[in-house]
Amino acid sequence: MNIHDNISLRGLNSFGVEARAARLVEWESEDELATVCFDGRWMALGGGNNILFTKDFDGTLVKSAARGIEITGQDAGSVSVRARAGVDWNDFVTWCGERGLWGAENLAGIPGTVGAAPIQNIGAYGAEAKDIIASVECFVVGGGTRLTLAAEHCAFGYRDSVFKRELRGKVIVMAVNFVLSKEPRPNLHYAALAEKTAEFGEPTPESISRAVISIRDSKLPDPSKTGNAGSFFKNPVVDVAIAHELAAIYPAMPVYPAVERGKSKLAAGWLIEQAGWKGRVEGHVGIHPKQALIVVNTGGATGAEIVEFARKVQSAVREKFGVELETEVNIVC
Ligand SMILES: Cc1cc2nc3c(=O)[nH]c(=O)nc-3n(C[C@H](O)[C@H](O)[C@H](O)COP(=O)(O)OP(=O)(O)OC[C@H]3O[C@@H](n4cnc5c(N)ncnc54)[C@H](O)[C@@H]3O)c2cc1C
Repeated sequence: MNIHDNISLRGLNSFGVEARAARLVEWESEDELATVCFDGRWMALGGGNNILFTKDFDGTLVKSAARGIEITGQDAGSVSVRARAGVDWNDFVTWCGERGLWGAENLAGIPGTVGAAPIQNIGAYGAEAKDIIASVECFVVGGGTRLTLAAEHCAFGYRDSVFKRELRGKVIVMAVNFVLSKEPRPNLHYAALAEKTAEFGEPTPESISRAVISIRDSKLPDPSKTGNAGSFFKNPVVDVAIAHELAAIYPAMPVYPAVERGKSKLAAGWLIEQAGWKGRVEGHVGIHPKQALIVVNTGGATGAEIVEFARKVQSAVREKFGVELETEVNIVC
């Protein structure tokens, strides 16, 4: 176990903002976790790709360094795989692809760790982590006990789970159990993904992953060059009646069915663009010119500046459309 006191977080968050943590503990095993003192303020940290620190963190950050992926079972059509929390998510996707296992390929290239994947039920290109998660193994802080939650008890939703709600600040994900398919299961509903995959040959988990990464690289800013945390805002889910009213005023507005009955999903990027914020820069913060959902640190921004900028974007969308944008990024105050 590695313990660092008064450590800079600049290299540990994809926004690249400066902040310090009073203590950072890197754990590799459950036994090590059991020895960590959780008396004061604490928070789990993965790769820092979905976190915005607005000031110094006056507690303990608990970062997983637990590595390892293993096959835990299989039958005629599927393989069960356990990956520990500190495994790089894309390494896990690559591992599955190399073994011809289906299910993770559309989620290639999402930066972060396996342990963080269930937290917001990461998703992209018509797939979500919940589609392949069987259960999540947690360490219960305080009790020091182990809790394995079957997927149906994780309340997975759109960028949401029980870990962001009832279990927030109560558990640390130690490992995730997945079920991958041996049978071909290409999910190529996105036309752009189907086209790009065809350039790499027959659809396989590997060719689809390559296509996903190629599309992502062409559209998304690389956090090692331009600080960002991917989508800053969630797509708003509103009552169907509100979506109808808005669509009558703005016929070009994209509207999608939501999972919840009586609700529709709007495209936050479209709303931000129409409110005039796509590509706008103020001080050291801006909206990415190619992707209106992404707030970028153009260089030297503080977390507080980024939050202030995001609030202005939310106000502009609220004023124009009467729609509230919720943040996807975890803002740490
Ligand atoms: C360029 C870019 C593109 C992105 N694209 C996507 C995308 O397509 N789809 C998508 O869904 N997301 C996307 N994201 C967001 C991000 O990749 C995911 O949220 C990812 O899961 C974050 O992983 P992380 O390890 O960096 O977690 P962190 O940012 O470190 O943590 C995120 C949250 O999870 C909690 N957490 C982390 N590890 C644990 C643990 N072991 N136990 C309990 N809680 C934990 C943290 O406390 C925090 O609340 C993108 C981010 C970037 C920078």
